[in-house]
Amino acid sequence: MKDGIHPKYEQTTIRCACGEVIETGSTRKDIRVEICSKCHPFFTGTQKLVDSGGRVDRFKKRFGMQ
Ligand SMILES: [Zn+2]
Repeated sequence: MKDGIHPKYEQTTIRCACGEVIETGSTRKDIRVEICSKCHPFFTGTQKLVDSGGRVDRFKKRFGMQ
């Protein structure tokens, strides 16, 4: 029997470039991402990316977000 054939599924910390830390389960350890649900403009309304024609504003109005 060899070890390491089946990766262990365990608690993992995902760290975003914005500083957000997300606890999740994964076979990988210490995942780093550049964008997450907390800093993605689709969720925050922050315009880090190019907003073509106020799509984010319309999105916010539709869902009553500030
Ligand atoms: Zn983030």
